[in-house]
Amino acid sequence: MDTRSGSQCSVAPEAVLNNGDLVLPPRISRVNGWSLPLHYFQVVTWAVFLGLSSATFGIFIPLLPRVWKYIAYVVTGGIFFFHLVVHLIASCIDPADFNVRLMKNYSQPMPIFDRSKHAHVIQNQFCHLCKVTVNKKTKHCISCNKCVSGFDHHCKWINNCVGSRNYWFFFSTVASATAGMLCLITILLYILVQYFVDPGVLRTDPNYEDVKNTNTWLLFLPLFPVQVQTLIVVIIGMAVLLLDLLGLVQLGQLLIFHIYLKAKKMTTFEYLIKTRKEESSKHQVARKDPCAQIEDGFLQQGDGALGSSAQGAKVKSFLLIYKSPCHFCTSVNPDGDSSAKEADGVRSLSSLGVKARDSLQIYRRPSPFCSTVHPEGDSTAQEADDEPSRSSL
Ligand SMILES: [Zn+2]
Ligand SMILES: [Zn+2]
Repeated sequence: MDTRSGSQCSVAPEAVLNNGDLVLPPRISRVNGWSLPLHYFQVVTWAVFLGLSSATFGIFIPLLPRVWKYIAYVVTGGIFFFHLVVHLIASCIDPADFNVRLMKNYSQPMPIFDRSKHAHVIQNQFCHLCKVTVNKKTKHCISCNKCVSGFDHHCKWINNCVGSRNYWFFFSTVASATAGMLCLITILLYILVQYFVDPGVLRTDPNYEDVKNTNTWLLFLPLFPVQVQTLIVVIIGMAVLLLDLLGLVQLGQLLIFHIYLKAKKMTTFEYLIKTRKEESSKHQVARKDPCAQIEDGFLQQGDGALGSSAQGAKVKSFLLIYKSPCHFCTSVNPDGDSSAKEADGVRSLSSLGVKARDSLQIYRRPSPFCSTVHPEGDSTAQEADDEPSRSSL
């Protein structure tokens, strides 16, 4: 069996280890983000959205002075509503390849991939699991167990794959969430400052005419006023501010990362494969050439490296590989299929010793934005098509 013939694409045929857990492909392909089982990240996402919406429109905006209140209702309300729409669309769209949507019966259990018959799920643009011809940029997702057109990554937060069909809805979801959180932080900071400077500015709503105690505040104005003490408002405000800042940092990084990817005309998957190949290639060269290895070690130390030896430099590089590129999206399982990787010339991943394995463990610890995709077929295809000399290293 020739494992290098044709253009083979990414596969996720079997169970893989992700963050120490065994990930099994579902027997029935998932249609979209609402296919069962729901992911708890998805539940958290919607709970946070509902919680922040309630706090924003029920508690904080009503505290603003009259003019600013209406502006905040329109601007923040528009952003939250836009986010709700694009978030729902990104979750509801079936991102599967056109032929999968055309010919696949989603109610039928998927076959088990037999590696003794095929080296990769997708070979020559034909998926052996979906049984259809697919596009060149289509990948078979392990979480959805189906081929996804223009695969970018599998997002746990929308519990759906992100591909060419829903990428811009996903991007808009991230951008609008970031904008909404910025609005909320602005409102919270204004309220916080005014509370110490001039609290009366925060009590301009007509419902406060009947409230004489300045230690009493009204929530859920103007429709359902609820009287609470100052401490309750402060606790809610601080909790929302912390949650908002945390979300803003994470979403901001994700947004910047995807803006960078679009500027480079790459998908998340392509970026991670490119990064891994570059680093794997660098370490292969270092291992083959003792002089290069030493030089590499010295260079790493010159950068303020982790340790004093060449091995230490390697470990540092591995830490950088798996910690730096993407905290949010598709992660690439580096040892899910060691046999395939070694055939592809990535043998160095399994031979760097205990320290390197430790660095891989760091990579495999839970990251709130990661999911697993098996990249080995794609790596094979690129080496076979673009860099034939590498396989002889
Ligand atoms: Zn497939
Ligand atoms: Zn998926």
